[in-house]
Amino acid sequence: MNYISTRGQVAPIGFIDAVLMGLADDGGLLVPEQMPRLPQEQLSSWQRLSYPELALEVFSLFVGDEIPRGDLKKLVDDSYSTFRHEEVTPVRRIRDDLHVLELFHGPTFAFKDVALQFLGNLYAYISAKTDSIIHILGATSGDTGASAIEGVRGKEGIRICILHPNGKVSKVQELQMTTVDDANVLNLAVEGTFDDCQRIIKEIFAEVEFKHKYHLRAINSINIARILAQTVYYFYAYFRLAEQGHAGKVNFSVPTGNFGDIFAGYLAQKMGLPVGKLILATNENNILERFVKEGVYQPGEFRSTYSPSMDIQVASNFERYLYYLYGEDTAVVNSMMAAFKKEGRIVIPQDKLNLVQADFAAYGVQNDECLDAIAKYHEESKYLLDPHTACGIAAADALASEGQVTVTLSTAHPAKFDEAIQLRSIKQTFPDPIQALFDKPQFHTVVEGSNEAVKARLEKFF
Ligand SMILES: *Cc1c(COP(=O)(O)O)cnc(C)c1O
Repeated sequence: MNYISTRGQVAPIGFIDAVLMGLADDGGLLVPEQMPRLPQEQLSSWQRLSYPELALEVFSLFVGDEIPRGDLKKLVDDSYSTFRHEEVTPVRRIRDDLHVLELFHGPTFAFKDVALQFLGNLYAYISAKTDSIIHILGATSGDTGASAIEGVRGKEGIRICILHPNGKVSKVQELQMTTVDDANVLNLAVEGTFDDCQRIIKEIFAEVEFKHKYHLRAINSINIARILAQTVYYFYAYFRLAEQGHAGKVNFSVPTGNFGDIFAGYLAQKMGLPVGKLILATNENNILERFVKEGVYQPGEFRSTYSPSMDIQVASNFERYLYYLYGEDTAVVNSMMAAFKKEGRIVIPQDKLNLVQADFAAYGVQNDECLDAIAKYHEESKYLLDPHTACGIAAADALASEGQVTVTLSTAHPAKFDEAIQLRSIKQTFPDPIQALFDKPQFHTVVEGSNEAVKARLEKFF
């Protein structure tokens, strides 16, 4: 399988090169040259596969023969053996019409482990196979950093440096990152905001000489391997409902920030999975809700909410969707993105909006509504939601119609966001691995929020 850029200026490359490239060299995003389309018989034959077996089949379609099947199987098995639940991503029934796909059973209790456990192993495999050094540099507002560090800690051939805003991530997120003492991990606590971290990273990646000298690689969700890994659980959830006798299409409600997770669902549908509506749940940062309802994509004012991993104004994966919305026409995507850069907004015509609304419905959840959903489900269903998942559930409740079944993706364990849960006076017991973090020593270096200060640290570390 080859990969091309949404902007059409990169010659087709194989899977491994696509993973290493991250952002496409022309500024676009990499997508498969052809989407595999599964015949019904093949879909049925996957029905009884375990999670790792299913992941192997899905990855095989996208990797092609670049990684021998035995090696790919080992990569997949290693990646999902670290999950605490034997089903990896189990589906919990809340009501007949509402199910929760629990994606938080990985090492850092957030859904990002599903993709980053695999990407970490894949980077180690590529490093060994091609005898190359891989230095990962990333910025995080919390979940990505912890998950990426867990994905590569102690692995040969890889070093990782993660920037986080000093004192501005949740306590559990901070501890998850900074209690790791492997020699290949460097945590930089930057004096500044997440935006400062992001800007520093972006500018360092733009210094081509520095980037090549230190073999810098990215881990954010623009990496195509992350998206592909996330398609797997849509299939898995669909099969679990089918097992319970549900025939027909299933809606998925997805707590959305950078549009990566829900875009994976869109790809699963393109591959032939019977998906009903993809419900795009946002918090008060609702640029994507406005896009689905009005056809206008325009960043608004940034709001801090109880679901910080969804506090995003410019969704980095959105360009991938535009590419498919416009019939895989890279010239159109190119000019739309250029216009977006100049004018700060994208407006699509009514015929395109009809297509968007055929696949997606959207709902922006207000802060109070999010906490209400947590309290309601805790009381009525004895099920504790984290604030991100609560946005997904609130959106599903707001949009669901009679007779339809919705699976809400649960993107984090409530223990990660206890600060919000406490606001409704709910007491939770932390799982042992999280409780244990509070007694461990922390390892991080506080740095000034400037490119020079960060680069000086990197030069010493790499
Ligand atoms: C990253 C994250 C999201 C948003 O996922 P996207 O792929 O960026 O849309 C939602 N919830 C949690 C807990 C996250 O960590």
